[in-house]
This record gives sequence, structure tokens and C-alpha cells, in this order.
Amino acid sequence: MIIFNNIKELKAHLKKQKLEGKTIGLVPTMGFLHAGHLSLISKAKQENNIVVVSIFVNPTQFGPNEDYERYPRNLEKDFELSQGAGADIIFNPEVKEMYPENYYTYVEVTGITELLCGISRPGHFKGVTTVVSKLFNIISPDKAYFGQKDAQQCVVIKKMVKDLNLDIDIIVCPIIREKDGLALSSRNVYLNEKEKEQATVLYQSLEKAKEKIEKNERNSKIIKELIRKIINEKELAKTEYIEIVDLETLKEVKEIKGSILIALAVKFGRTRLIDNLMMEV
Ligand code: AMP
Repeated sequence: MIIFNNIKELKAHLKKQKLEGKTIGLVPTMGFLHAGHLSLISKAKQENNIVVVSIFVNPTQFGPNEDYERYPRNLEKDFELSQGAGADIIFNPEVKEMYPENYYTYVEVTGITELLCGISRPGHFKGVTTVVSKLFNIISPDKAYFGQKDAQQCVVIKKMVKDLNLDIDIIVCPIIREKDGLALSSRNVYLNEKEKEQATVLYQSLEKAKEKIEKNERNSKIIKELIRKIINEKELAKTEYIEIVDLETLKEVKEIKGSILIALAVKFGRTRLIDNLMMEV
């Protein structure tokens, strides 16, 4: 496994690999890797000759009062885990390598970024699409791997790729969870024991919603109320949103049919968690 911090050197290396006909899979991450990230790396390894894992805590996707400074980091462990999962290359640039002085260019997907997480995190997706565009331009992957855990991010990236006519396959990988159902997240380290235990309610509420939909409930208001009631039983949970939306437009649906996304954002203490369920009805 080779570690690059420098864009020019990484580009030169990948250019040679491409001339040899090798395909490239990219897994963008912010590090502090867990089994969710590793599932993306393994999948990329199955489908490409070379797997590039980027590890970059991207400052432009954090709001001014968010956790950029305290975001968990452990590079040595990330290198070891990435290698174990099959990474060939790590791209770990410094902030000034990605955003040198007098950096002025941003990529923005409109509309679908102003809903769901976009409401409480204005500018977040603009930071995401900017850094992902830069990674796409630096690495020119054939395929890029994202987790369904960040469902809105997947929809936004797919839209960007389509709208900008990029020749990159976006592969969405399933959510990896703890045994108790809590979706793995680098931010789970912020949770104390009680918060962590209560946070399992997110998955439980989504499962109950699924059961009810499978029993033919189609009224999205009733499903949302069911989820809210289950979450409210935990005294530490503070719900930010519970939405049922069309998987492509992210617009609210009143009647559950077609491809839908049930998405939640709930705070436990200072920690904001998201979870979701995709269904074909
Ligand atoms: P992050 O480092 O949190 O920006 O995540 C990097 C990538 O890993 C994103 O595409 C995430 O959606 C994905 N990811 C994070 N957590 C999980 C999980 N529990 N299961 C699957 N993918 C995940």
C-alpha cells in the first residue's frame, strides 16, 4: 500500500496505472475507519484493479458550530485497517493541499441539498460535492463507493455525476450496524454508555415502520407518528426530523409507494445521529 499526501504525485502514479489498463475504485472517507468504511473498501477491491482510499477531514463540509476541530482521528490505525481490507493507495492530503490560499471554487447541487440534513446543516452538501468533485478530478476513478448510511449524500452525489456528465459509476453500499442495530459511525465515539444504548431506538423504530408498511399501511403520516412515538420513549433523544421522501427527488410523500426513503436525524446529548431505510413498495 502506498500513501500519498501530494496531489501531483498521486496523479502521476495513477496515470501510469491507467496506461496499463488498470481500473480504479475510490472510497472517500474522513478517516477514523470502522467496519462500515471497510465494507466499502472490500467491495471496491472486488470490482477494481486498484483501490484508492481517501482520508481527509474536509473542513468545508462542517458548519461553524460543528465538530470539525474535535472530529476523531487515528491515522495509523486507519492505514492498518485500510490495508487489511484491500486498499492499494491511501490519499491523505493536508488541508492546504486541497484548499490552498486563495481557493475560490465550489461545486453546488441545488434543491435536494436544501431538504432533510440540508435544513440544519446549510452549506454542508456544498462542501461535500466540492471535495468529492476534487477527488474525482484528482483520481479519475471508474467507480466510487458510498454508504447508504448517508442516504442524502448518495442521492446528491448521483445527481451531481448525472448533471455534470461525469463518467463515474456511483456504487451505494448497505449500512453496517452494531449487533444491537446502531449504525456504525465515526461519531459514535462521542456517545456515553446511556446515549449509545438509547440510540439503538433509531434502528428499532425503522424496523417497526418497515413491519407496518409490509402489513400494507400506506399513510406516511401514520408511519412517521409511529416512529416519533417509539423514539420519544427514550428521554435522551431529541428528534430533528423524521421524513418519508421519494428516493430520487427527496420530496415528501403522503402515500407510501414506489422507491421511498425513511430518513431520521436525532440528537443524543450533543451528538447528532442519522439513520434511514430504503424501501421499494
Ligand atoms: P465518513 O468517513 O463518515 O465521511 O464516511 C465515509 C463513507 O463511509 C461514506 O460514504 C459513508 O456513507 C460510509 N459509511 C459510514 N458509515 C457507514 C456504515 N455504518 N455502513 C456503511 N457505510 C458507511
